[in-house]
Amino acid sequence: MTLPETLSRTLHRVPRHPHAWIWLALALHLGAVVVWWRWGWMPGLACLFATHLLFLWGTMRPQSRLFGPVLNRLPIAQNAVWLTVDDGPSHETEALLDLLDRHEARATFFLVADRAAARPGLAREILRRGHGIGNHSRSHPQAWFWALGPRRMAAEIDRSQAILHDLTGQAPRWFRAVVGMANPFVSAPLKKNGLARVAWSARGFDGVRGEPGKVVSRIVGQLQPGAIVLLHEGAPHGNNLAIIEGVLEAMRERGYRAILPEHL
Ligand SMILES: [Zn+2]
Repeated sequence: MTLPETLSRTLHRVPRHPHAWIWLALALHLGAVVVWWRWGWMPGLACLFATHLLFLWGTMRPQSRLFGPVLNRLPIAQNAVWLTVDDGPSHETEALLDLLDRHEARATFFLVADRAAARPGLAREILRRGHGIGNHSRSHPQAWFWALGPRRMAAEIDRSQAILHDLTGQAPRWFRAVVGMANPFVSAPLKKNGLARVAWSARGFDGVRGEPGKVVSRIVGQLQPGAIVLLHEGAPHGNNLAIIEGVLEAMRERGYRAILPEHL
């Protein structure tokens, strides 16, 4: 096996058994029924509650592998990190591309397909400038993504993949769940589209918090070899560019490069 094959197998892991969770759910519910029948309703109900809590945890925790593989960091020892920018394209994308060029940094942009379709040149420009694009849903339903049923979930992921492919001529290989929450229905459309899910190991909550100093120092505290850094563009607070610039400067001071997993 060649090295790129080994790497793509360890890093780019498309779900192979997207319905395995159904057997887990059946086994746990059957277990709860047995406990109920054998020891009474109180322990039975406690088991049922624990089962549902486990599934909720598997959905809400972005790094959870309960429902399928997820990449949380790159397995490298050198001082390099993967910068990922969610929620674009936006009015800030062009300035962000210039900022990344000035720092000779490459990033992966997890695009919302409806936003990419509204600014059709930007997705192509991102690729032309040497960055990557990923699938971050069609419409970014952030309040309800975690609770979408199988049909709406598949529509969000499939449509986004088709739109981004049409716009750029390239099908994304990476997927990031909206707000990081991937429920059991995410894996089937990922398998269908050959997508691998990516979470992160460093974030400063820059999607909602606007104080660059605090956000940058939080991210910098989590910089490690192979870290996957979660960043955003176009947030209403208007400070995403300042935050990303702060992160790039802190990386330079500490001798960190920005790399893409494709270039490992
Ligand atoms: Zn997002």
